[in-house]
Order: sequence, then C-alpha cells, then structure tokens
Amino acid sequence: MHQLVFVTNNAHKLQEVSAKIDGQIKLLSLDDIGCFDDIAETGLTFHENASIKSHYIFDKYKLDCFGDDSGLEIDALNGDPGVYSARYAGEHGNHDANINKVLTGLQNQANRKARFRTVISLIWNSAEYFFEGTVEGTIRHERSGIEGFGYDPIFQPDGYDVTFAQMSLDEKNSISHRAKAMEQLVAFLNKI
Ligand code: IMP
Repeated sequence: MHQLVFVTNNAHKLQEVSAKIDGQIKLLSLDDIGCFDDIAETGLTFHENASIKSHYIFDKYKLDCFGDDSGLEIDALNGDPGVYSARYAGEHGNHDANINKVLTGLQNQANRKARFRTVISLIWNSAEYFFEGTVEGTIRHERSGIEGFGYDPIFQPDGYDVTFAQMSLDEKNSISHRAKAMEQLVAFLNKI
C-alpha cells in the first residue's frame, strides 16, 4: 500500500482526509513517522508555506507527503492578515486579539470584502502539485456565533446571512476553503 504523510499535528484534519481517500493509500501523521520537529513557516505566501512543509518532510524522510496552509485575506487591509493569520496580533493563536485587530483596522471602512484561502502542496513520486480552495465573503462589524475557531465569528460567506461561527461543522465543511482544497487533492489521489 502506498504511504502518504499529511504534514500536520491536527488529528481532526487528518481524520477528514482519511475518511475520503480510497483504500490504496495509507495516510500517516507526523506522529506516525516520529517527526516532532517545529517546521518554521517563514514563507510570504500560502504556496510557499505549504511547500516548505512538504519539502521539509520529503527531504528528511523521502516519503510522499502534503502540507497545507490557510488564512484570511481582507481586501481593504491589502490582503492582511494573510500568512500571518494565526499571529496577526502578535501571540500565536490568540484568536480574540486577532479579531480585535481586524475590526479596529476596518473601522469606518465600507469595503469589507474578504476570503479564506487554503493551499496544499503535494509531493508525489518526486513531483510537486498544488491544490487550492477559496471561499469569498465579508467581514462583519461585530462577532456572531460560537462555533468553529479563528476568524469564524466575523466572517460571513457570500450567499449566507450567518457567519461561519453560526454554522454547524458539517455546514461549514460543505463550503469551506479547506474542504474545497482537500476535495481537489482527494480527487487527484483517487485517480492515481
Ligand atoms: P492553518 O494554516 O490551517 O493552521 O490556519 C492558519 C490560521 O488562519 C488559523 O490560526 C486561523 O487564524 C486562520 N484560519 C484558517 N482557517 C480558518 C477557518 O476555517 N476559520 C477561521 N480562521 C481560520
């Protein structure tokens, strides 16, 4: 059976993809291959960061693998927070402070257009392939909802009148940037 490493420590993401790929591929996590390294995301784009993750594992272990990188792009903030989404307000993963910084940055701003983006870099038989998913939306003036994580309480996807944080996980997963990128990866893998 062909082994494929998902360059993540997030068990939830791993399970999502695992459930969708055919039996011909065995998906492994970083834990499974005994990798506990902190891979520095020093790229300036989602493509670069996804690629840094996959190349790190390929170079060190010579295993087929894929890495992903996601974030929020806001037009009126020139694409910020972008690759800095997790650490926009300084401390890594302080979602509340990150949201406050976005809302402050957009004060009196009429253009609230934004999008979530996910890029996946797959290394398969020594070649690199990219897959991408986006979801367009707008940034609310205030938080709504308690589901999800990150910027979900202020992101309203186009065509809906609720935020990501007011949707069930299943509903968000049916339209999210991550789900779209993963679907493309899975379609590619299932054709191999
Ligand atoms: P990651 O690359 O998937 O770890 O995402 C990086 C950061 O982007 C997260 O820490 C969040 O701040 C933001 N982000 C990515 N995806 C989402 C999402 O689905 N909802 C809200 N925030 C997200």
